[in-house]
Amino acid sequence: MTDKKIIRTRFAPSPTGFLHIGGARTALFSWAYARKHGGDFILRIEDTDVARSTPEAVQAILDGMNWLGLNWDEGPFYQMQRMARYREVITQMLDEGKAYHCYCSREELDALRERQMTEGVKPRYDGLWRPELGKTLPSIPEGVAPVVRFKNPQTGVVAWDDLVKGRISISNTELDDLIIARDDGTPTYNFCVVVDDNDMGITQVIRGDDHVNNTPRQINMLQALGATVPAYAHLSMILGGDGQKLSKRHGAVSVMQYDEDGYLPEAVLNYLARLGWSHGDEEIFSMEQFCQWFDLDHITPSAAQFNTEKLNWLNAHYIKQASLDYLALEVSKRLAVSGIVAADAPDLQGVVALYRERANTLNELANSVAYFYQLPQLDTVAAEKHITAEIVPIILALAERLATVDWTAEAIHAEIEHAVKSNALKFPKVAMPLRILLTGGAQSPSIDAVMALLGRDETLSRIRTRIG
Ligand code: GLU
Repeated sequence: MTDKKIIRTRFAPSPTGFLHIGGARTALFSWAYARKHGGDFILRIEDTDVARSTPEAVQAILDGMNWLGLNWDEGPFYQMQRMARYREVITQMLDEGKAYHCYCSREELDALRERQMTEGVKPRYDGLWRPELGKTLPSIPEGVAPVVRFKNPQTGVVAWDDLVKGRISISNTELDDLIIARDDGTPTYNFCVVVDDNDMGITQVIRGDDHVNNTPRQINMLQALGATVPAYAHLSMILGGDGQKLSKRHGAVSVMQYDEDGYLPEAVLNYLARLGWSHGDEEIFSMEQFCQWFDLDHITPSAAQFNTEKLNWLNAHYIKQASLDYLALEVSKRLAVSGIVAADAPDLQGVVALYRERANTLNELANSVAYFYQLPQLDTVAAEKHITAEIVPIILALAERLATVDWTAEAIHAEIEHAVKSNALKFPKVAMPLRILLTGGAQSPSIDAVMALLGRDETLSRIRTRIG
């Protein structure tokens, strides 16, 4: 049996922008992994880059997570609120000889780098201030505030079995002594991640593969702290359909933009779940099901490509599945954005039920039902073609009869049939002009159903004001 508290995963976004699709997938996989194992999912906001972090971005991340329903068990923890803890660990590492002060000035480091470049060697710190047994360090310069560097092992390799990418190993000779605190005492990025992953007891670090390069340094620091090194799963990038880096060109990149564009969170989640992960051929599944199936063994190491058509297909599916209550609420919000009030009549749930089969997004659904609540623009080309001089009196006569029938789709249908038969016409000859007069255009679901919902007064008024 799984120990309830064994698995602890985290999502650790930097609040420098909105929650984008890649971040959302990382969050989803971390969340699902914790949920599957009955563990904990932790949200940590990595806000130490004060120049680029904003409260708006923090809010956008929280909004995105909430919209997707990716609930966290602990946090949000803010790194800026953990400064005292980082300083404490820095002091401890200095005391234990695992880190040291380096007094090199920026100019010295620049000169070193230049020298190395001209010599054709990889630029790296040369260990000038690294204390070693029997080594005499330079004398400490006046008035220079030192940085703190981590004493990286100089021999051997640092290796891990990445749960997505397989074994990765790096020789320690490739790594120099990382600065863990700047000369003003503020801790640096990789160091904060290490302290947090350790303090928060993270067991699986699931993150984007742009962090693969940080991992050997982080593992070395964790080991120096005597910490248990978590397992790592580095997820490949998400590319646009054209194989290029995902950007605005490919559609929305912010999760909340999908909300605005009329996607259901269920559809976005289902879509993201299949971006680089699979369970046989399963395409449509609930998050409950996903949390049961999800594992880190079936993540593809290659980059996943974003496919808007597939997202639309899933969204259409979830629109068909959604409750009418939900759809009506979402559609009324979207109509309101266009200044249209979906009043009590026609019944919005009925209207939505009539159109939900045809919509890829909630916005499409809202657009297609807008004419119920606002007189539609007439498609003049269609009108000219279908509302001919011979048909006008037939429609007006039909309107006369409709004034007194029972206002049900069946009764309306019978009246249209009557007009068709008594004039020896084909059904579309009558239905099409009606459709254009009532909905503005030549496409709609069954016209009797539209009329039943539109109501008698509105139906007759639209007919009569336009051709009466
Ligand atoms: N804050 C990092 C980012 O937003 C993630 C760090 C991590 O997951 O270790 O890319």
